[in-house]
Amino acid sequence: MDGSTTSNGGGGWMRPMDEEQLRECGHRMVDFIADYYKSIETYPVLSQVQPGYLKELLPDSAPNQPDTLDALFDDIREKIVPGVTHWQSPNYFAYYPSNSSTAGFLGEMLSAAFNIVGFSWITSPAATELEVIVLDWVAKMLKLPSEFLSAALGGGVIQGTASEAILVVLLSARDRTLRKHGKKSLEKIVVYASDQTHSALKKACQIAGIFPENIRIVKADCSMNYAVTPGAVSEAISIDLSAGLIPFFICATVGTTSSSAVDPLHELGQIAQAHDMWFHIDAAYAGSACICPEYRKYLNGVEEADSFNMNAHKWFLTNFDCSLLWVKDRNYLIQALSTNPEFLKNKASQENSVIDFKDWQIPLGRRFRSLKLWMVLRLYGVENLQSYIRKHIQLAQHFEQLVISDPRFEVVTPRNFSLVCFCLVPPTCEVDNGHKLNYDLMDSANSSGKIFISHTVLSGKFVLRFVVGAPLTEEQHVDAAWKLLQDEATKLLGNVVQ
Ligand SMILES: *Cc1c(COP(=O)(O)O)cnc(C)c1O
Repeated sequence: MDGSTTSNGGGGWMRPMDEEQLRECGHRMVDFIADYYKSIETYPVLSQVQPGYLKELLPDSAPNQPDTLDALFDDIREKIVPGVTHWQSPNYFAYYPSNSSTAGFLGEMLSAAFNIVGFSWITSPAATELEVIVLDWVAKMLKLPSEFLSAALGGGVIQGTASEAILVVLLSARDRTLRKHGKKSLEKIVVYASDQTHSALKKACQIAGIFPENIRIVKADCSMNYAVTPGAVSEAISIDLSAGLIPFFICATVGTTSSSAVDPLHELGQIAQAHDMWFHIDAAYAGSACICPEYRKYLNGVEEADSFNMNAHKWFLTNFDCSLLWVKDRNYLIQALSTNPEFLKNKASQENSVIDFKDWQIPLGRRFRSLKLWMVLRLYGVENLQSYIRKHIQLAQHFEQLVISDPRFEVVTPRNFSLVCFCLVPPTCEVDNGHKLNYDLMDSANSSGKIFISHTVLSGKFVLRFVVGAPLTEEQHVDAAWKLLQDEATKLLGNVVQ
């Protein structure tokens, strides 16, 4: 940092947290960030750098003497920003969104300011208690059954990501099952999910010691928009039962990653209950939409679930990371994850009068993440959040109409939320089912720097994914993206012999 203001010259005593210096530098940083957002559309959405670009630009060891903030800003502009993919750009339509907002940003700032490590209630009572309160708030917005609220046996907790949420519930379910059947049955316990389930489940199984041969990936039904059919899951369970295995976990998805399919929650929940299995619902992206009464139907059947997860950091204006997990019975989490070393003992914990969230998660330390969620809820309010979701879904509908109106393209799956799965129809002479044509379309659009879209493969077909969900996206951006895709399509189709 600037030698004149940040340290007392050469070998003097540094003051790493000086309030006046923070004020000055902090204001400059906020200005820098506001300017970044103001000019965000001037950058290529997808970073266009080559692998290893930064090594060429930065020295190979840390500076011995402090640098100035001005020099740092120069490097950020010239060396870092070109290597950033601009997730907050209004022309970002890839994967699923990751929202920032002024409220979320302010919450992150305040959380950085307190910089607590809130593993137990005593380490900052406000952090634990605010988390309990805001998770109850969101549970009510989603109309989750009352068992998921903190007043009952359940409750909510903020995890870093949906992957961590799946892992902690899988561990809870595993231990519950092993307590019942004996720890030697680890090799017999079986997990069920569709082939559209996020890869986070597979990773969780790898970590939890589930035998790889005991992961049943049931093929989703393409005629049901890639939802899994209950019959297929039942059948797999029956086969396993007759082989002496122990079915113990079903993961359903509301809004799959490839095509935002919604699994039949009610039926899957009934199957889970009939076999004393844990039923988890992953609604990482689409859960946010269910705060609108007209989309709440997608959660019908959540009554049957043992756990439910939604990422507030995707489509809920809460800066990354903030993944909301609710469980019906918190004791399973605590039984699987608690430890009680002497150095953490304290009166409140001993008396069992408080929640210690360290026992609901993998790490010990945890950030004050409820602040940003609370600020989002307070500063925007439920009605604004609902209109925010509706606006994106309307823009996605608009894009879907544009695709339908051009006979060269087709919509591949029905749209549920703000994701449109579409492709350019290949001329009949193409042998690869349009794979190369659509890959080239995506590649040329993304390397133009003007938009960023991503892809998936459904039933062997290369499919383009267009998701509306960045906070700054307006109709004009969707229209311009469509125009670009049409123009690129014209160029590509001109190159193939019709
Ligand atoms: C995004 C997503 C995930 C993974 O989210 P992380 O929070 O990055 O772990 C899992 N499942 C679904 C359905 C998702 O959309």
